[in-house]
Amino acid sequence: MSIAFIDLQSQRRHLGDRIERAIAKVLEHGNYIMGPEVAQFEKGLCEFSGARHAITCGNGTDALQLVLMAEGVGAGDAVFVPAFTFVATAEMAPLVGATPVFVDVNEETFNLDLGSLERGIATAKAAGLRPRMVIAVDLFGQTADYPAIAKIAEREGMVVVADAAQAFGASLNGAKVGTLAKYTTTSFFPAKPLGCYGDGGAVFTDDADKAALLRSLRVHGKGSDKYDNVRIGLNSRLDTLQAGILIEKLAILADEIIARNQVADRYAQGLGDIVAVPKVPAGYVSVWAQYTIRVTDRDGLAARLKEKGVPTAVYYPIPMPSQTGYSTYPVATGGVPVSERLSREVISLPMHPYLDEPTQTKIIEAVRASLA
Ligand SMILES: *Cc1c(COP(=O)(O)O)cnc(C)c1O
Repeated sequence: MSIAFIDLQSQRRHLGDRIERAIAKVLEHGNYIMGPEVAQFEKGLCEFSGARHAITCGNGTDALQLVLMAEGVGAGDAVFVPAFTFVATAEMAPLVGATPVFVDVNEETFNLDLGSLERGIATAKAAGLRPRMVIAVDLFGQTADYPAIAKIAEREGMVVVADAAQAFGASLNGAKVGTLAKYTTTSFFPAKPLGCYGDGGAVFTDDADKAALLRSLRVHGKGSDKYDNVRIGLNSRLDTLQAGILIEKLAILADEIIARNQVADRYAQGLGDIVAVPKVPAGYVSVWAQYTIRVTDRDGLAARLKEKGVPTAVYYPIPMPSQTGYSTYPVATGGVPVSERLSREVISLPMHPYLDEPTQTKIIEAVRASLA
């Protein structure tokens, strides 16, 4: 029996025929674009998160672009993004003509470092850029420090965006993802904590006017109907079929988050004495999109685990400022040494809600043996 890194088939078995029935229902009514399941799922997202408005869209990358468009971010604007993240976080700023400015992350949480953000703001101003937006990432399922980020952003007149592609369902001091920043974006890519069977995404906000604007932007900048086009927009909608699937998956998300935390606790107990395991500060609840440890000989560990049938993955091997397509954009003064070190040391272990105890014990023993 091979061990899965993320086991979507176990989840499917757990759901029984609920997915098939949800799909059959859509095939029956035939409203494939913006059918009733889309609005129903958006309502479910609001109920789960506590956000006033949830606007679904084509994917988590489009969600970021929609937010940049809704705020009119463009030429001359600095958008602060962490150097240690998936490319999409930084990708949309240049697409709308703005400049991404790379900021380092905190070694313990993997999330935006506040000192580096301050240095980045100074770097941007010295380059003649206007600080407009900070996109913090809730990496691996744990939120960034939004209360602290908000203080800096307020002082500078910047909008805060939470890129929660990996963290829908997580919380900070009892407040759920979707309510921690002016805008929150997420992704329903299959491997994310709340994933569909294709692409999908959403934007959350409490601002009714911006929500209406986002609903226009996702359908070609429509006015009162789709043949009345009042602005430049995108074609970025969540498919009705995916919404139907997501309604069923959202119904089990709370239980899955509990299960993910049990898996994380077992890893911490089994490995905490020999490797750097992730730390969850007081007040944070992670949804563990990834369980990421740090070791000095990362590639050696990956090879030995592979021999023992344990799959691993590296998120992320190259910090953003070292990516060929991004090497010309500004970096906060002082550079991003933590992001560079993490890129060399991180390795993620199998993590999903259906990882049973005997399998996990095998993984833990394999890691211990490989490091001995
Ligand atoms: C997955 C991911 C995205 C992009 O989501 P897609 O739905 O694949 O477009 C953006 N940011 C982060 C941090 C991600 O992990």
